[in-house]
Amino acid sequence: MSQAKRTEISELGEFGLIDHLTKDLKPQNSSTLYSIGDDCAVLDYSGNDKEVLVTTDMLMEGVHFDLTYVPLKHLGYKSAMVNISDIYAMNGTPRQMTVSVALSKRFSVEDMEDFYAGILLACQRHGVDLVGGDTTSSLTGLAISITCIGEAEKGKAVYRNGAGQNDLICVSGNLGAAYMGLQLLEREKAVFNSTPHNANEPFNPDFAGKEYLLERQLKPEARGDIIKELREAGIQPTSMMDISDGLSSELIHICKQSNTGCSVYQERIPIDYQTAVMAEELNMDVYTCALNGGEDYELLFTVPLTDHDKVIQLKDVKLIGHMTRPELGRHLVTKSGQEVELKAQGWTSNL
Ligand code: ADP
Ligand code: MG
Repeated sequence: MSQAKRTEISELGEFGLIDHLTKDLKPQNSSTLYSIGDDCAVLDYSGNDKEVLVTTDMLMEGVHFDLTYVPLKHLGYKSAMVNISDIYAMNGTPRQMTVSVALSKRFSVEDMEDFYAGILLACQRHGVDLVGGDTTSSLTGLAISITCIGEAEKGKAVYRNGAGQNDLICVSGNLGAAYMGLQLLEREKAVFNSTPHNANEPFNPDFAGKEYLLERQLKPEARGDIIKELREAGIQPTSMMDISDGLSSELIHICKQSNTGCSVYQERIPIDYQTAVMAEELNMDVYTCALNGGEDYELLFTVPLTDHDKVIQLKDVKLIGHMTRPELGRHLVTKSGQEVELKAQGWTSNL
């Protein structure tokens, strides 16, 4: 939290705070008819070629985030980004957002400025208008609830239940890095807590060479660029979701909802160099991290076999396997050719 200056929220009051944080906002989308300032925001999605997408997430301090190592600006950015990612995961375009917060007395006006700076940066990067929210008090800590609204072309929203039995399974980016970033932060927090130190001396955690992992944990990026690439390539995925809980768990969701089995090849799972180094340092199996780690916010999607030649041309997309008949089960094919059943491991329960 901000150390430099501290203005109590009570000095501005709830209305003063909202006004202070949102006064310079100008809506960017034609579907935003009226934004902050009345009992409701007013949206116009009447163009008959659109479907409206709505997603909500709730984040609780101590359960979903730890303010000892997450700066409020990053927290704002990530909270907004995970909602934006859900809209992309439906093959949509994010347009509006509401942000509700419950604040304890620990939080100052400056803290909220940082938090909103993060939210607004994420919104600006993805063309989203902040159109409302609610502000209330909490006895302990911070609670955040964000709703994102977007649009999809009529009939073009992509669900989890549309995968066919021979479809190709694809993922964007790489996996496991956000989880390794969390391990790194937790490790340095433990070092901090167990080393005697003077409160006035800055603590210098050892993050050298691991900046990418931290970025993936603290500042995830929703893959709107992949959605755009897919559209430009004329590929309509048959199923899609964003990877928030780990590849294994998400694949199981898609298979269950689509009534398919799957085979995923271990050697094809994309892993960044820093993720592999960190896993080795921690004596963890890097593929287990990539399969179960969570919070990568990459896209997992399936395409028909006939799109093979198109999909292999896409930048930053890897083909990792294929769907099968449901009775064949859900498998990881290891590097040595063994078939291992995919399991949704519970590692994410403390994320
Ligand atoms: P109401 O009494 O109808 O709930 P509020 O006084 O809570 O209205 O809110 C007034 C306006 O400020 C509304 O447009 C609301 O959406 C907006 N607002 C309130 N809290 C927030 C917030 N945390 N972030 C963004 N907008 C907010
Ligand atoms: Mg209100």
